[in-house]
Amino acid sequence: PAMLGILGGGQLGRMFAVAAKTMGYCVTVLDPDENAPAAAFADRHIRAPYNDPAALRELAQSCAAVTTEFENVNADAMRELAKTTRVSPSGDCVAIAQDRIAEKSWINKAGLPTAPYLAIESVEDIQVDLAPYLPGILKTARLGYDGKGQARVKTAAEARAAYANLGGQACVLEKMLDLKLEVSAIVTRVSAAQSAVFPLAENIHKDGILDESIVPARIAPALAAQAQEMARKLADALDYVGVLAVEFFVLADDSLVVNEIAPRPHNSGHYTLTACLTDQFQQQVRALCGLLPGKTDLLSPVVMVNLLGDVWKENGGEPNWDVLMEAPNAQLHLYGKKAARPGRKMGHFNVMAATADDALEQARALKDTL
Ligand code: ATP
Ligand code: MG
Ligand code: MG
Repeated sequence: PAMLGILGGGQLGRMFAVAAKTMGYCVTVLDPDENAPAAAFADRHIRAPYNDPAALRELAQSCAAVTTEFENVNADAMRELAKTTRVSPSGDCVAIAQDRIAEKSWINKAGLPTAPYLAIESVEDIQVDLAPYLPGILKTARLGYDGKGQARVKTAAEARAAYANLGGQACVLEKMLDLKLEVSAIVTRVSAAQSAVFPLAENIHKDGILDESIVPARIAPALAAQAQEMARKLADALDYVGVLAVEFFVLADDSLVVNEIAPRPHNSGHYTLTACLTDQFQQQVRALCGLLPGKTDLLSPVVMVNLLGDVWKENGGEPNWDVLMEAPNAQLHLYGKKAARPGRKMGHFNVMAATADDALEQARALKDTL
């Protein structure tokens, strides 16, 4: 069977490996960590830094196709790999997704709205009238996730101080919007003619980290369809091949604003593992191999709950899974991580019920038993 390679061996790489193995492929994981969650499901684990030239050469030689589980890989390394093997998504798309300045300008170029923002590449850029972006959020252009590398600012003086505080690295200053809801759409695109969008997820964050995804999102069907179309449009604009996650804000007037994108399966798409015929990792395998995307229909309303290290006991002991295990409509996924730390994503569970509200109520009650 063909060997598929993945850059990164975290939980997303692990779920990719499971999907690939299920579909009959072999998997090589590149990750420096000997305990990388994906290694348990991989045929081969190359233990080297993600950008190690020799390791990348080895991947290119031994794999029929290579993908990534995170956006902060070296885009040039992906372009290099693409000279000799199939790579999806492209290094160009990954480069856009890893830089908020490029990302937002691409989103606007595709005809889609973002929050009003100011690109700050150097200190001169912040010496303008900041009123249109205040109160706002200053975000580092690169490497931020789970709300890290962000500062909420009310005044121009605060914004300039926060910029200096971030060490003068490239940033965006984004106007703080009044959010009614947050939703995400995950699109799988193989070609202009072949793409599929998963049902919209409604996302609830806690302390800047995704906590719950509710599907279908509790918004008007027409608005959900509009978000799905926007995700597709963005994937088309990028000539994207692979799985692309698009995060949206729903504003008070029910308009949609794109927040950010991820060039890979997304935490808010883990519900698809239980509630869709094809899950987002199978879609990643399909797109990587140039196969048609699978069907994305929702089999049942579902809620996904993230399990962070906070739920583990003080002494590192596991939560009590008994009640969750007895629930016939719940499915537990653990990522096989050894050390539980606050804020660390250790696993998730999905709960299916007749309505999204029922699923949410049951999911919260189950979480309380852990
Ligand atoms: P992720 O882990 O999703 O990659 P991130 O660190 O890249 O997160 P963002 O998604 O940009 O951060 O922002 C995190 C959260 O902060 C958003 O989900 C939203 O709740 C809030 N937020 C971000 N930008 C804005 C904004 N312009 N107006 C209001 N709230 C915002
Ligand atoms: Mg992000
Ligand atoms: Mg985000």
